[in-house]
Amino acid sequence: MSSAVFFPQDIIIKKRDGQTLTRDEIEFFARGVVNGQFADYQATALLMAIFLKGMTAQETAWLTDAMMRSGDVIDLRDLPGAKVDKHSTGGVGDKVSLILAPLAAACGVLVPMMSGRGLGHTGGTLDKLESIPGFRVQLDVPEFRAILQKVGMAMIGQTPKVVPADRKLYALRDVTGTVECIQLICASIMSKKLAEGIDSLVLDVKFGKGAFMKKKEDALALARAMVAVGKAGGKPVRALLTAMNQPLGRCAGHTTEVIESIECLKGRGPADLMEVTYALTGHMLILAGAAKDEADARKKMEAAIADGRALEKFRAMCVAQGGDPRVVDNYTILPTAKRIYAVTAPAGASSFVSEVDALKCGHAIMALGGGRAAVTDKVDHAVGIADLIKIGEPVAPGTRLCTLHVNDDAKAARAEALVREAIKFSPTAPQQEPLVQDLIS
Ligand code: URA
Repeated sequence: MSSAVFFPQDIIIKKRDGQTLTRDEIEFFARGVVNGQFADYQATALLMAIFLKGMTAQETAWLTDAMMRSGDVIDLRDLPGAKVDKHSTGGVGDKVSLILAPLAAACGVLVPMMSGRGLGHTGGTLDKLESIPGFRVQLDVPEFRAILQKVGMAMIGQTPKVVPADRKLYALRDVTGTVECIQLICASIMSKKLAEGIDSLVLDVKFGKGAFMKKKEDALALARAMVAVGKAGGKPVRALLTAMNQPLGRCAGHTTEVIESIECLKGRGPADLMEVTYALTGHMLILAGAAKDEADARKKMEAAIADGRALEKFRAMCVAQGGDPRVVDNYTILPTAKRIYAVTAPAGASSFVSEVDALKCGHAIMALGGGRAAVTDKVDHAVGIADLIKIGEPVAPGTRLCTLHVNDDAKAARAEALVREAIKFSPTAPQQEPLVQDLIS
């Protein structure tokens, strides 16, 4: 690491004028936002310059590396076995992590998963896990390592010392219109993942109505940037591009998603959710050397679900992380809503479901109190959507469209209106778009 001292304004001017920054300048920036040498107003000016002028692949890789080294980098090299994680750019009903981590662990992969909380219309893995009574996600690194070693997986929140530069930069980007920048998103996500001590990574880059990236070409650009940064850091990364126009599975919320995840581990998961889960977990197995190809991975994953090994990993994780393991057999110990009622198709609803708008469903969860508008908001784990009808399914007046789990009738009226807006009908069967669309490696 260079000890060169720069003036922030020179770096800002250089990027403002469209020039390429050096590695030392980028290091100075990433360190400076944490130690105060780069004031917040200077950091936001540089972020805006990057937003407007972009960064080369090399600059993006340097920024990722510098951000990663702005705090603790977890070293898991002494643990035998391949350490592989998965990251999703997020969507509605995306509970894949809850199924994938125990499934991959049951197939012999070590899964050191650090996840985030929900913000806006997308849910967060940590919030979902916290609907299990007693479940602890804020573990220190020694406990994380011990659980990883014992169970083969651990699912926790980021420790405060991991990638402090991202904490600072993300907060600044959030309030200065600089979030939607491929290179900054790439550095933000990859710095956190590479600090986990992984050997390789699988990415689920979502696009569509309920995703962070609405357009497929943007998702593709992000996926390519992240795979390139992984390669530059010496870590194999594979990215799948998956559609997120309708919610994944039939449940959205917290309790509802935990139940659906456990059902998947019992072999009773909905087809779309299992398709994405198998695709992502399969690539983890291949990267870990636990399967030779996708067909071999699929056989191993199906066996781990059929004989209960994946479910037992989930139970063991609950025990290790303080969660009540009885949840696996008894869903009534999860937070339960006061009222659960069916929303049915109106008179005139014809033949087929043609659309289930994921964004509107996400907004319905927020209207119920199950989401966060600000990071400090508390979420209601009990509320949500279940039994959601899917695009292409037959419908007639009175058919159940979904079940709403509600704690407040006033909030329920708004959520129901949003769900009704989300679901559209057509007299003919709609074209189904493929769920898993591209592999970037
Ligand atoms: N998620 C992240 O972690 N960082 C971003 O910049 C965007 C999404």
